[in-house]
Amino acid sequence: MSTSPVVNVDIVIVGGGIAGLWLLNDLRNRGYSAILLEATALGSGQTLASQGMIHGGIKYSLAGALSGASEAIADMPDHWRRCLRGAGAVDLRRVRVLSDHFYLWSTGAAGRMTAFLASKAVRGRVESVDADGRPPIFRAPGFSGSLYRLVDLVLDVPSLVAALADTCPDAIYSLAGAATAWTAADSGRLTLDLGTATGTQRLAPAAFVFAAGAGNAGLLATIGAVTPAMQRRPLHQVMVRHRYPHALHGHCLGRETTPRLTISSHPAGGGEQVWYLGGTLAEQGVGMAPDALIALARQELAALLPWVDLGPARWATLAVERAEPRQPRLLRPDQAFADWAGNGANALVAWPTKLTLCPHLADSVAARLGQRGIAPSGASVPVLALPRPPLASTPWEAAFGA
Ligand SMILES: Cc1cc2nc3c(=O)[nH]c(=O)nc-3n(C[C@H](O)[C@H](O)[C@H](O)COP(=O)(O)OP(=O)(O)OC[C@H]3O[C@@H](n4cnc5c(N)ncnc54)[C@H](O)[C@@H]3O)c2cc1C
Repeated sequence: MSTSPVVNVDIVIVGGGIAGLWLLNDLRNRGYSAILLEATALGSGQTLASQGMIHGGIKYSLAGALSGASEAIADMPDHWRRCLRGAGAVDLRRVRVLSDHFYLWSTGAAGRMTAFLASKAVRGRVESVDADGRPPIFRAPGFSGSLYRLVDLVLDVPSLVAALADTCPDAIYSLAGAATAWTAADSGRLTLDLGTATGTQRLAPAAFVFAAGAGNAGLLATIGAVTPAMQRRPLHQVMVRHRYPHALHGHCLGRETTPRLTISSHPAGGGEQVWYLGGTLAEQGVGMAPDALIALARQELAALLPWVDLGPARWATLAVERAEPRQPRLLRPDQAFADWAGNGANALVAWPTKLTLCPHLADSVAARLGQRGIAPSGASVPVLALPRPPLASTPWEAAFGA
């Protein structure tokens, strides 16, 4: 393998979660030469801990009105479906779709939500499901509530990470074992020296893109920038591995304006599946001991799905933080975020804020590059003297084994 000491490339992306991998594919499709550097394993951090829902924002409108968040995100499922067909900004044809729809159910009548869910404002994004159209889990005689089908879809996130990584095998590198040193010229232009046993290579791109999730704060501190500021919003998810035959991808409506319980279902080995539980349960669970949270989760399942008997099951929890641009009162951001580091460096800081919003993130990054006149240069993709990072495990593989 031939390597060169100074590496010219248009874009160096730092971080191999969904944001970095999506941007790598998207920017290359826009003609940029780009490489990606990952500290540990692809998809570690939030991406493989996510529920894989690509949603159109209805879950943000449970207050009974459309908000900024539900509007910004509304056309995202269509973007993703185009990519899944091979006709979008990135090629997701190899990604496994776990469910074509997400469901919204209530244990009794949907009350004040009924009129809103039937209204013109959400037409095309949500529809009431009659008894004949119900998925198997809601056909049980014990279910007497209301059921709605959303346009949202659920993806198998490991296959998403693998698909995005496999389309750029020549451009993804592991930083494990490399010494990194950042240098800023008086102009603010950054370079990154990568030291390995075989020597040092200096990366001198037109722009770095920090797409390192929670790692963006440390990267900004290292280059001496204090903005954009980051916030962390914690969750405590519950995982249950069992042999119950039916999958469930849905939100249970409660009295709150967020879903009382959100469940996604993920295939596990040996004919088992993992139900991954979030929503209000995961917000309430922050700071709770795992055993207490598992007891609460059992109670919630018994109350909201009383006809379901999971049989012998194994339980675990996952405490995880969402990393996002700081908002007043730590509110949830409405949109993907991309902006330049506040110290004038050529480092663009990116947080998708939702897996779903990656197409929006890519447009924002491209617009920011355009603002500084950074266009594809025609440079070829360089070769670094670094290995390829592995794919991370899912939280349930880590908790229960494969
Ligand atoms: C429990 C949970 C459920 C969620 N469910 C959904 C959902 O169903 N739908 C949805 O749309 N969104 C969901 N989200 C949000 C979504 O997961 C995140 O917005 C998204 O994964 C963030 O991706 P990211 O690439 O920015 O960060 P991350 O996934 O955290 O990836 C960051 C990557 O950068 C690497 N890194 C860190 N520091 C460095 C460094 N210094 N150098 C190099 N690499 C570095 C890390 O190792 C990691 O690989 C969920 C989030 C959580 C926590």
